[in-house]
Amino acid sequence: MKGNTPKEDQLKQYGLVLFDIDGTLTRSQHGFIPFNEAFLKTFGFAGDIRTVIPDGNTDPLIVEEIFAKAGRRAQDGEAWQQTFATNLRDSYARAIREGRTTVRVLPGVLELVQALGNFPGLYPGIVTGNFEVTARIKLEAAGLSGYFPVGAYGSDARNRTDLPGIAKRRWEEMAGASLGPERCVVVGDTPKDLEAARANRMKCALVGTGRYAGEQLLSCGPDACLKDLSDTGAAITTLLALLQIPVG
Ligand SMILES: [Mg+2]
Repeated sequence: MKGNTPKEDQLKQYGLVLFDIDGTLTRSQHGFIPFNEAFLKTFGFAGDIRTVIPDGNTDPLIVEEIFAKAGRRAQDGEAWQQTFATNLRDSYARAIREGRTTVRVLPGVLELVQALGNFPGLYPGIVTGNFEVTARIKLEAAGLSGYFPVGAYGSDARNRTDLPGIAKRRWEEMAGASLGPERCVVVGDTPKDLEAARANRMKCALVGTGRYAGEQLLSCGPDACLKDLSDTGAAITTLLALLQIPVG
């Protein structure tokens, strides 16, 4: 937490910027390798993440979709999630170590999260469909560890629309203050990020660095749309405008 617990009037100058990981902060190459390895180890048959569109979805729902594509019924309950998350963590860490999978930071992201970290009142956080264990591995591999004091993950809820509210609550617990949803911006690369923001009455900026081109994202009606995050000044200006925080 920067400084002390904020007073009520100071909160008007506060903002939580909730970043998606895949396609927004980072891009993975051959991420299907550890995912499919962990799937086989957990469920005993070969499922393939490449048979579904994972973008914007949570890991628990991606697993269920792979079961459906394979003509099988997913296991009841959520007991498998812990086993799968552990296997996924191990597979991902090994694949990255061996260079079979790479995770790289997208242009301008490091500069942007560093700038947010130095900006009084602005807090970067994570909202991702990844299990927390894999989110941490990806952030570490991309050189982004330690920049996000709060987050919500696919291991917290299977529906992405539940995640921004969880991240906000975690920030509030950390800060010892409450934050209105209008003080939160979701930054993502898919219509599902926008849907999750709207379900929580939060603002949303979409970036065209994932599967969807800028025009496709714009047609969904986000509050802002950026080609990428390479222009730190432009990204900060956009975020401040969405949060209605005066510049300077
Ligand atoms: Mg994404």
